[in-house]
Amino acid sequence: MTLILKRPNLIRTNNFINGQWQNSEQNAHYPVSNPATGEDFAQVANSTVKDAKEATDAAYQAFESWRTQPAKVRSQCLIRWHQLIIKNAEDLARIISYEQGKPLAEARGEVAYGASYVDWFASEALRTYGDIIPETVHGKKLMVVKEAVGVVAAITPWNFPLAMIARKIAPALAAGCTVVAKPAEDTPLTALALVALAEEAGIPAGVLNIITSSRDRVSEVVGVWLSDARVRKVTFTGSTAVGKILARESAATLKHLSLELGGNAPFIVFEDADLDAAVEGLIAAKFRNGGQTCVCPNRVYVHDSVYDDFADKLTKRVASLKVGPWDQADSQIGPMINDRAIEKIQRHVDDALTLGARLLTGGKRIQNDMATGPNYFAPTVLVDANHDMELARDETFGPVAPLFRFHSEQEVIEAANDTPFGLAGYFYSNDIKRVWRVSSKMQTGIVGINEGAIASETAPFGGVKESGYGREGSRYGLDDYMDTKYLCQGNLD
Ligand code: ADP
Repeated sequence: MTLILKRPNLIRTNNFINGQWQNSEQNAHYPVSNPATGEDFAQVANSTVKDAKEATDAAYQAFESWRTQPAKVRSQCLIRWHQLIIKNAEDLARIISYEQGKPLAEARGEVAYGASYVDWFASEALRTYGDIIPETVHGKKLMVVKEAVGVVAAITPWNFPLAMIARKIAPALAAGCTVVAKPAEDTPLTALALVALAEEAGIPAGVLNIITSSRDRVSEVVGVWLSDARVRKVTFTGSTAVGKILARESAATLKHLSLELGGNAPFIVFEDADLDAAVEGLIAAKFRNGGQTCVCPNRVYVHDSVYDDFADKLTKRVASLKVGPWDQADSQIGPMINDRAIEKIQRHVDDALTLGARLLTGGKRIQNDMATGPNYFAPTVLVDANHDMELARDETFGPVAPLFRFHSEQEVIEAANDTPFGLAGYFYSNDIKRVWRVSSKMQTGIVGINEGAIASETAPFGGVKESGYGREGSRYGLDDYMDTKYLCQGNLD
């Protein structure tokens, strides 16, 4: 399994600051490994506080000229970047798969998905309209304009190495902000390749800067951005624990914050659901990316009257999923990102079994002819799950579907909402009145109704409660990167 690219020069291992590819000031590196084999295959810059500050200086300096460009100029930069992403889609997909593990077909999907945000915000850049407020007294004009907030710090996770960073950088640049970015330590190469294409697209020096750092340095490196008053916004996708640190530390300078944090998504199958559609929806939502997405159903509630039937159908489908490396054409589930991830999944399964769950398929690490590395986990179905289990409270972030039994709509709504989190929720029902009733009671930012694939660049993505705030994508997505300024001109009569 080797990484062969049409354009090997898309592999970048240095920081990109003020239009220059440069090593960290200490010439230090850290290794990036392939989750399918566990082997290190690249060394990238291990940045320091000084590198983070240099990136901020560059972004701050570039801000005035970028924000005052005509919107059309910023839009055209994004259009060229989008075209280059599409042109190099196959290479980008291979880099994603190699460092993150997902099957190539899914990585191709991720490139298309991430690119769609760049395309979308290239257009939205042209639509940052303000308002003229009707006069209430003679001689006064009241106007509202939208202005870029300033330098934006973007911090992203490893599960979608391209899409998560694209959907932060694209709206920031469209709004007229400049960016300092730090991708997840496990998957820096995709983000660096994306920035190489942004450079090729003619995005001016200093407008987009990226630095990489190992896990043990991340808090001091990102800390530079959190304490710098010139950074006006932090946009983050990742765990709730880290999101709370960012919120706390950016409070001193009252930065704007967009936090897309952990979920604990319920997936409800009512007695009137189309069971086959619900099984397919669950497969799509739960097992995509090996269950490593923040909108993955974590708790599957099935009505007592269809429970056994649903469990049976689901188990047959899950047991047929092919587990293997990214470059095997029929792989559907790749390796988990690292050892830490596998240990958590196993802990959740073992805890559930101890507390009375029954295993219908999977339940442990696997190794076979296709899945030869250390990080593969068998797709798993558990029945008789209950709320005392760890997997009911915490995201498993792996290919495990625990089935909970319920008897009434009220009972299941209470159970579904009994969590501090509220990113996505799903339910299957063919009763139109129930559809409206349940939709309004779900305490989540996103609701999938008879649908497991909910993501779209045209729709607002984000959560409520401890899943965070802010929205990515859609016509609402630019607001997070803009201040509203009110102009009042008097003495006109
Ligand atoms: P995960 O557990 O899935 O890796 P994290 O929330 O820990 O999720 O990581 C998401 C992103 O946040 C990564 O880019 C990571 O480097 C970064 N990160 C982790 N810890 C901190 C921290 N203390 N301060 C700032 N960023 C952090």
